[in-house]
Amino acid sequence: MFVGHYAFGLLLKKKFNEISLWLLFVAVQLVDILAFIFVLLGIERIRYNPSPNPFLRTIIEYVPFTHSLFGNAILAGMVFLLFWKLNSRRWASVLAIGVLSHWFLDVLVHTPDMPLFFDSYKVGLGLWHLPILSFAAEIAFLLLAGIILLKGSPQINRYIVLVTLLVVAYGGMFFAPEAEAKAAVVAFSSLTIYSFYTALAYWCERRKA
Ligand SMILES: [Zn+2]
Repeated sequence: MFVGHYAFGLLLKKKFNEISLWLLFVAVQLVDILAFIFVLLGIERIRYNPSPNPFLRTIIEYVPFTHSLFGNAILAGMVFLLFWKLNSRRWASVLAIGVLSHWFLDVLVHTPDMPLFFDSYKVGLGLWHLPILSFAAEIAFLLLAGIILLKGSPQINRYIVLVTLLVVAYGGMFFAPEAEAKAAVVAFSSLTIYSFYTALAYWCERRKA
């Protein structure tokens, strides 16, 4: 899942306005950020799978630390402790919920490749088997969250740019022609994309000079 995670971040922003959007974006996507770093380091493994369905072209083969429910919960716990120390219990709770949301949103769409504990007991409801429905549902979730956040927001134009660019990027991924990509290339380009949207979220909230 890609933009659905950010949609959840937008909803958190609406409810907990004092927390920066870029930080919420890092939280909801932290599992994938770490997964791709682990792939580059050779700790976790993804591989290319030839398929006409764009969602099934990347198989997460061995992701026990980031994409197991247990690993995700540990990560959320670490984020909680860090922000409890750095900031407040409220920030810690919200960011930890953001981190933990990743697994539960992923499990809706993934085929049964999401482990509960390290590399075992893999689950996934497999909405990705219906690519058009998955794509439409994720975009709808993003737009809905965007509209909820935008109501009464002062920086409305920038948020519209952010949501539009998310839709464009996701459309690009979905409609891109099938091409075999090396795991390192997928990891590196995904990390670049996540950095871009984090920067954009920061820009959305920067006060105009
Ligand atoms: Zn993920």
